[in-house]
Amino acid sequence: MSASDVRPAVPEWLLVPDDANALVEAVWPPEAARGDDGVLTIGGAPVTDLAQRFGTPLYVFDQDAVMAQARRVRAAFDAAAERHGTTARVYYASKAFLSTEVVRWVTAEGLAVDVATGGELAVALAAGADPARIGLHGNNKSRVELARAVELGVGSVIVDSLVEIDRLAEIAAERGAVQPVLVRVNSGVHAETHDFLATAHEDQKFGFALTDADAVVARIRELPSLRFLGLHCHIGSQIFGTAGFAESASRLVEVHARLLTGGDVPVLNLGGGFGIAYTSVDDPTDIEDLADGIVDAVARECAERGIPLPILAFEPGRAIVGRAGITLYEVGTTKAVRVADDLTRLYVSVDGGMSDNARPALYGAAYSARIASRTSAEPAALTRVVGRHCESGDIVVDAEYLPGDVAPGDLLAVPATGAYCFSLASNYNYVPRPPVVAVSNGLARVIVRGETIDDLLARDAGILTEGAE
Ligand SMILES: *Cc1c(COP(=O)(O)O)cnc(C)c1O
Repeated sequence: MSASDVRPAVPEWLLVPDDANALVEAVWPPEAARGDDGVLTIGGAPVTDLAQRFGTPLYVFDQDAVMAQARRVRAAFDAAAERHGTTARVYYASKAFLSTEVVRWVTAEGLAVDVATGGELAVALAAGADPARIGLHGNNKSRVELARAVELGVGSVIVDSLVEIDRLAEIAAERGAVQPVLVRVNSGVHAETHDFLATAHEDQKFGFALTDADAVVARIRELPSLRFLGLHCHIGSQIFGTAGFAESASRLVEVHARLLTGGDVPVLNLGGGFGIAYTSVDDPTDIEDLADGIVDAVARECAERGIPLPILAFEPGRAIVGRAGITLYEVGTTKAVRVADDLTRLYVSVDGGMSDNARPALYGAAYSARIASRTSAEPAALTRVVGRHCESGDIVVDAEYLPGDVAPGDLLAVPATGAYCFSLASNYNYVPRPPVVAVSNGLARVIVRGETIDDLLARDAGILTEGAE
C-alpha cells in the first residue's frame, strides 16, 4: 500500500459543523425534526418512544415520505414523456428495500415492480402486485423461477444470456404461452456518481454486448413462444447527472432504430441508478431535471433517426426509499483513540453495525449521524461510528462530527439508510436482524418483525431438543 492509498484521517469534504445537532435537510426524511426536548421525530414519532417500544437497532421508515417520493418520481417521468408524446413506466427496483408493505405503497402510487429472484417475486405477489406489472431480472434465473414467471403472466422477463433465451422459450412453449421479454445490453457506459466512463468492451457478467444485440433479437423473433419488447440497460447506481444516461441512450437508440426494421420495438428501458444525498456534500440532480434530461436525450436521438419514441421504462430503487429510512442505534461504549500527535478520534460503538448496514464495508460508502435522543451544546468532536462485529472494517459512519459528550445510552440516528441496508443485512456474529418499523402521522407499526436468537438457533440442525435421543 502506498502512502496515497491511505485514507486521510478526516475526509477533505467533512467540515466542522456550526451546530453538530443540526439536521442537514437533503439527507433526512423530509419531515424529520427535533421536538422542543431535542428528541428527533420521524413521521411525527419521537425516536425515544420508538426505541423503547421496538428496541435498537431499528430500521425506521417514514411511510408518507416513501409514497410521496414514488409519486414525485412517477410524475417527473410521466411529465417528461408526455412532453414528447410518449408514456413512461416506472418500476420500483425492489432489491433496494422489499417487504409487502413497501410494495403496497409504491403500487398504490402507480409504480410497477422489478424483482430479481423467486424470493423477491414471492414478496411482490404476497403484497398483491399485478404480475403483468412485474419485471423479472437476473443473470441466472432458475428453471423454477422462469416457469413461475410464465405461469403467473409476469409482464416482462429481462433476458440476460442465450442459454436463458432458449430455456425460457422452451418453458413458455411447454405451457402454450407467449412470454414478453426485454434484452439486457451493455451500452458500455458506466456511471459513477459524478462521472461516467464509456468503454467499447465490457468485462462484467450482465447483459449482451451492444454489438450482439441484432443477432440476439433476431433469435428471439424466431421463437414463437417469446415476444420481443425492447432493449434494457442499467448503467450503474448512485448517479448524479444526466450525461451518462444521455450517452447510453444515444448508443441504445442507434440499435433500437435498427431493430425496428425487423419488427415492433415498443419499449426502451433505461434502468435506474438515480442518486440520493448521503452526506452534506452530496448534491444530486432533482428528479424532475434528471427525467427531463434523459427523456430529452432519447427524444433527440429518435428525432435524428426519424423514428417514433418508444414507451420509456425506468427502474429507480434507491431514489424511492433511500431518504425515507433511518437506522436507530444505542451507543454502548466510547473510546478516544490518538490517531496522530495532533488528532484524536472518538470511537462510538453502537449496538448494530455491518450486519444491518453492509455498505460502508462493501463499498466504502459514506454516511452521517446525529445524536437523536437529545441535543448538546458541547463542541463537536471528530468521531467514527462503529458496530459490534469482529472486524475492524465494521464501520457505520467513517467520519462525522458529533457533540463531544456523546455517551453510552444516547440514541444515535443514521439517515439515508432506506435503501440497501435491510436488503443487505446479515446474521454475522449470530446477531439477529433488526425489525423494520413504518411511521405515519405519528403512529408506528412493525412491517417486518425482528429476528430473535431462537430464530437463528432454529436453523441449527445439531441442537438437541427436548425429547430427542
Ligand atoms: C439495482 C438495479 C436497479 C436499481 O438501482 P438503484 O440504484 O437503486 O436505482 C435498477 N435496475 C437494475 C437492473 C438493477 O440491477
